[in-house]
Amino acid sequence: MAQILDAAVPSAIRQAAACIQAGGVVAFPTETVYGLGADALNERAVAQVFAIKQRPAFDPLIVHIAQVGAVSRYASGIDGRARVLMQRCWPGPLTLVLPKQPVIPALVTAGLGTVGLRMPAHPVALSLLRAAGTPIAAPSANPFGYVSPTTAQHVQDTLGEKIELILDGGPCPVGLESTVCALSGEEAVVLRPGGLSVEEIEALIGPVRLPASTDADPRSPGTLPQHYAPRVRLTLLAPGQAIPLPSPRERVGLLSFRPVPAADAYTRHEALSAEGDVLEAATNLFAALHRFDRLGLDRLVVEAVPEQGLGRAIMDRLRRAAARGAD
Ligand code: AMP
Ligand code: MG
Repeated sequence: MAQILDAAVPSAIRQAAACIQAGGVVAFPTETVYGLGADALNERAVAQVFAIKQRPAFDPLIVHIAQVGAVSRYASGIDGRARVLMQRCWPGPLTLVLPKQPVIPALVTAGLGTVGLRMPAHPVALSLLRAAGTPIAAPSANPFGYVSPTTAQHVQDTLGEKIELILDGGPCPVGLESTVCALSGEEAVVLRPGGLSVEEIEALIGPVRLPASTDADPRSPGTLPQHYAPRVRLTLLAPGQAIPLPSPRERVGLLSFRPVPAADAYTRHEALSAEGDVLEAATNLFAALHRFDRLGLDRLVVEAVPEQGLGRAIMDRLRRAAARGAD
């Protein structure tokens, strides 16, 4: 099992930073989800991240940095749109895909000519980045294709056997992965909806293209049709569809958007938000999926959430999760 260090203890950051500097791998909190981090400039360290996650080499990692000023070391082609987004949305849940500088190893970007860069808003992530003094390549700290972790315990449960250190900074406040926005071409493209809403991006740089969430963009494997999936088979209800009665022969869970009456026929019921708030729903989504997954249910029925703001990213994750669980 991994050692879980309370990030509030000052020596914890030093120990984690020393591990990164020595070419090791550390799980750490960000405001989106927990990341599995290694020195982004050390190809051998990065290779371990792929091995631990069993992540295919075609899936690029996001590189985390501690300050906006560092971007030009790792990326080129930083235009007006990129500057506005970095100034207004960083630190925060936005990854910018830009042409890469040669210093970033090919393994990090899966051989692509672009790199995904992000300055996270979590104080523990920023302290770790500053103490390590190097950019940190970090995907979500979960086995490839599975639900992302939003607590240190989620990481321990799924990868604890394979890693040494987990920095515990409490539950992740956003709870969804970053929004990935490609600025490497003329048109801005949101490759993956996430913790920063598309509406907020458009308010800053004008219209962006949003590929249909069923398209698998080979440039962005986070957009694979089956991803972010719990083990339990998941049935996603259509927007507005009434909650069905579960089959009495099956153990079925219900994950509704807001509280619903008479869900007693279900083995377990949870609501994502007491007030029907998509922000609160986003924060709770992955933790709820982890809880349901521990129950060994036959099926999980999930109610659709309104597809606005962060609701778009929630529905994106649920559709991909359902793609694996479908009969
Ligand atoms: P995660 O596994 O949550 O860290 O997400 C990483 C995701 O970011 C990848 O699966 C891609 O969807 C996206 N990404 C990272 N780097 C790039 C890049 N250079 N080009 C396109 N997408 C990227
Ligand atoms: Mg991931």
